[in-house]
Amino acid sequence: MLFTSYIELSKSALNNNIQFMKKMAGDSPRYSMVIKANAYGHGIEDLLPLVESCGIDHFSVFSVEEARRALKVKNDYCDLMIMGFVDDDHLEWAIENNISFFVFTKERLDAVCKIAKQTSLPARIHIELETGMHRTGFVKDDLEYVAQKLQENAGDIELEGLCTHFAGAESLSNFDRIYNQIGTFHRRCSWFHDKGLQPKYKHLSCSAGVLNFPEASMDLVRVGIANYGFWPNNETKILHIRNGQIPEDPLQQVLSWKSKVMSVNPVAEDEYVSYGTSYRTNRESKIATVPVGYGYGFSRNLSNMGHVLINEKRVPVVGAVNMNMMVVDVTDLPIVKVGDEVVMIGKQGDKSITISSFSDMNNSMNYELLTRLPAAIPRYEVD
Ligand SMILES: *Cc1c(COP(=O)(O)O)cnc(C)c1O
Repeated sequence: MLFTSYIELSKSALNNNIQFMKKMAGDSPRYSMVIKANAYGHGIEDLLPLVESCGIDHFSVFSVEEARRALKVKNDYCDLMIMGFVDDDHLEWAIENNISFFVFTKERLDAVCKIAKQTSLPARIHIELETGMHRTGFVKDDLEYVAQKLQENAGDIELEGLCTHFAGAESLSNFDRIYNQIGTFHRRCSWFHDKGLQPKYKHLSCSAGVLNFPEASMDLVRVGIANYGFWPNNETKILHIRNGQIPEDPLQQVLSWKSKVMSVNPVAEDEYVSYGTSYRTNRESKIATVPVGYGYGFSRNLSNMGHVLINEKRVPVVGAVNMNMMVVDVTDLPIVKVGDEVVMIGKQGDKSITISSFSDMNNSMNYELLTRLPAAIPRYEVD
């Protein structure tokens, strides 16, 4: 083992989640798998081929850098869409590589119109509309300008989509705001329609949209977190399981994160462990080190809080998590030796550490924890 930890990606879990979310979205919308932020930490290059083998042919990323990486590994028949940052310098590259992208400012629209005159392919753009999130998107007063530009440049620009993004479709407390967004989006789309501007795709749903507002899906869904086996939040999980009257979680976590025991040492009673004085033994103890610390994605907030699995037992992290390693209390393990498998996230025997319990302890959302897993950790496919 060259690296100090490794990640396993379960193909059967991935397929299970994708098929579940496809069923929720229904047959008509195109299904785009969101692989931004290094595929939510799973690794774009490692995950994308597995996703293709589950029957997916559309991917969404945030930036040109991610699009470049996806382009290298994807099949030709797959579509690629950039939802966020494209510098003017890279518009030509995106157009020539047949990559569609969101346009949400006049500046970008003007730049696209100019560049698309010289490219061999038309620019495939998705006009993002402001409907209530107040982050990105054209506001109402911009629409005349947008429509005029689209009409003038019809030969060079293909209006592939009209889209918007929900401002928190995972929480009941936001539902009024979401219904307003849906209403506004429909009105804006009809306005374009009346101008003779009809895109191939009208789209607005993310995972929480598909799960909580399935009737709103329209022509394409952009699903991220649920494909990886996580609920957008706990509320959506409970709502779904209760409304569907199903006993079990239909999603399965795709990612496991593992390492090995690096050393085992005895410690006497009443000794401090690791830096400082945050942990002191209250019995004769046995401690083990694991070569994973906050520099490798294991949050420092898990000091004296986190757990890992060793020899099918849950053992606590004691003392401060260091940059490169953590210390765990293995006094209660009858057998433990250097080289034993350590599970930070995933299963061992009948025990498991899920990211949500991990992130509850850590007080951060699934999204944040996943995307902080270093890109350098090797990823392996497992069944
Ligand atoms: C991240 C993102 C999504 C996917 O969101 P999930 O909650 O992970 O399903 C969809 N659309 C846009 C614009 C996004 O930025």
